[in-house]
Amino acid sequence: MADTIQIELSNQSCGAGLEYARKQSAGPAKDAILCCEGMCLKGETARRAANLMGHRLVPEKTVRICHGGLLEKSGGMRDLIQRSSRVLVLDGCGMACCSRLTKAAFPELQPEVVFTNEMTTYAGDPFGIDEVPEAEITANAQKVAAALVSKYYGGC
Ligand code: SF4
Repeated sequence: MADTIQIELSNQSCGAGLEYARKQSAGPAKDAILCCEGMCLKGETARRAANLMGHRLVPEKTVRICHGGLLEKSGGMRDLIQRSSRVLVLDGCGMACCSRLTKAAFPELQPEVVFTNEMTTYAGDPFGIDEVPEAEITANAQKVAAALVSKYYGGC
């Protein structure tokens, strides 16, 4: 099995993502927020926290980046990262999937990486989102987002 993989960047782009990036690029530079998008509870919590920050809590200071956009040649997401003031990566666990993808796309970039599983309070070691109540996932994502907003932006 290979130790590394090569991924061909796509000439295609997500139309809605392009429009989002175009609107964001028309305004001032913001901090870029990426997350790992894992299907498990850890990834779900990271993704929800990232979306809360970028879309609800501090949208004037942050912009959400779709990490799929890093695999497009000119989808706009890569441009948003390059014009950002700071790049914040929320990884759901120490596997650091989004950090590794980001490093592959931008080797020189020095993102701030947060492992959100270290900030959550799930009992035991649940894997799927079906293993805990929906309200508990929401509460954990809100807790993570609030803590990061407080740390990086002094509250909201
Ligand atoms: S960082 Fe962890 S939670 Fe996120 S996609 Fe990778 S293995 Fe899954």
